[in-house]
Amino acid sequence: MKPKNNETLLNFIDGDFAANQSGKTFDVFNPATGELLYVVEEADKHIREIAIDSAKRAFKLWSQRPAVERSRILLCAVSELRKRNNELARIECLDTGKPLQETTEVDVATGADVLEFFACLAPTQTGQQQSVGDDFYYTRKEPLGICAGIGAWNYPLQIACWKSAPALAAGNTMIFKPSEKTPRGATELAKVFIDAGVPPGVFNVVHGEAEVGAWLTGHKDIAKVSFTGEVGTGRKVMEGSASTLKDVTMELGGKSPLLVFDDADIEEAISGAMLGNFYSQGEVCTNCTRVYVHDAIYDTFLVRLKERTEQNIITGDPLDLSTNFGAMISKEHHDLVMGYIQKGKFEGAKLLTGGDSFSPDSAPKGYFIQPTVFIDCTDNMTICREEIFGPVMSVLRFYDEDEVIRRANDSAMGLAAGVMSKDIRRAHRVAQQLQAGICWINSYGTSPAEMPVGGFKMSGVGRENGIETLDQYTQTKSVYVGMIKLESPF
Ligand code: NAD
Repeated sequence: MKPKNNETLLNFIDGDFAANQSGKTFDVFNPATGELLYVVEEADKHIREIAIDSAKRAFKLWSQRPAVERSRILLCAVSELRKRNNELARIECLDTGKPLQETTEVDVATGADVLEFFACLAPTQTGQQQSVGDDFYYTRKEPLGICAGIGAWNYPLQIACWKSAPALAAGNTMIFKPSEKTPRGATELAKVFIDAGVPPGVFNVVHGEAEVGAWLTGHKDIAKVSFTGEVGTGRKVMEGSASTLKDVTMELGGKSPLLVFDDADIEEAISGAMLGNFYSQGEVCTNCTRVYVHDAIYDTFLVRLKERTEQNIITGDPLDLSTNFGAMISKEHHDLVMGYIQKGKFEGAKLLTGGDSFSPDSAPKGYFIQPTVFIDCTDNMTICREEIFGPVMSVLRFYDEDEVIRRANDSAMGLAAGVMSKDIRRAHRVAQQLQAGICWINSYGTSPAEMPVGGFKMSGVGRENGIETLDQYTQTKSVYVGMIKLESPF
């Protein structure tokens, strides 16, 4: 099969596209139409070698640039991203199957925000100095070297921004491997960096599947790996990184709870539940797929949830700006999510709405699934225990605060959680007991650049965004200075 426009996407090394020598390619499909979008050259031995060489050379220059200069250049990339918002949003929409309505508002903008945040922080990094007797020492925050970024397919350009921003701001270089399902976002970012004046080799993009990712994690010249993906893959990436004791950041999956108390504003709570299950057609790591609703408001909550889900969700061609619910990333993922829906039915959960595949008139060949709500779920059902990564909400009934906190925490994962309540003391008391890296109170899903994000338990290691993340891309060097004659027993 040939893509309509005969496009072949190449690896992006040392400031330009680079052809591989093996001739090996893989295909990328539009999830909303099933059509071949373009083919991509895999990073072979030649590409891998030049990627490392160029990142090494670039590190020598980039790490020596004054932080304020790096900041100025990265801020040019921020302007460029914002200028190209609509064009980039369209690329993300075609690759991911997400609504253009969303990618235009969120995907590029939140990537640019994080780049701006870390560009502004770059010149603020300082060491410390302390006297110790007659001598003294001082510390320097030095960059790590070449960092690897490995991305998931749900927010391709945003993930590439979130990983490269702190890395580059701190003076590192990065070799980024986007998901093989959505390789264009990171490539576009690489072009933006070059246009903005980031030197060639500071941000290289290599393409491929697990094998290319595994090569990065095992490579002796790579100092750190920042990974976004599934828990199981994260474990392999940590194992691979252990061979050279690399530093790792792991942004992994979740099975997050939303707790809706009896004093919550019901419409707002439903907004939170719908945002946290149906935004990006449910393909968001922090999704609150376990919605615990207090017995006193359970029935009212369900009536309005059904109405709003059936009336307000518009599924169709993601390029149509009125569409607010898109296609699953692939046929394979579509079938996986449908498998979970079958398990939910089999294990006795009741369907409130949805539960089937779907062929909208405007995109009849896409991999769509109806927004699905299961009710009367129990904690041990597969749909309440495993990450589905699709538009499948499970609603569970609860009776008291201690009980719901215990049930919410009964998960191997701990990425996010939400509390809906007008009682501020209760909301904070509960948030403090929830085992999750992010807790939203009367809100869900918002992730500003200033706020650290990452998981407790098996949902992750380290954080992205927020001031503390910059430190994760530096190492501290202590310099001890002797001011008096050095005594020695020898
Ligand atoms: P995935 O784990 O299948 O793949 C992620 C990346 O890892 C891809 O680039 C893939 O090619 C690469 N990879 C696969 N095997 C590898 C290996 N052995 N070594 C190195 N790299 C390897 O995940 P996905 O299906 O792309 O994304 C969905 C998952 O990502 C979900 O679990 C979701 O929760 C998670 N996610 C987490 C966050 C977060 O911030 N916590 C954000 C987005 C997505």
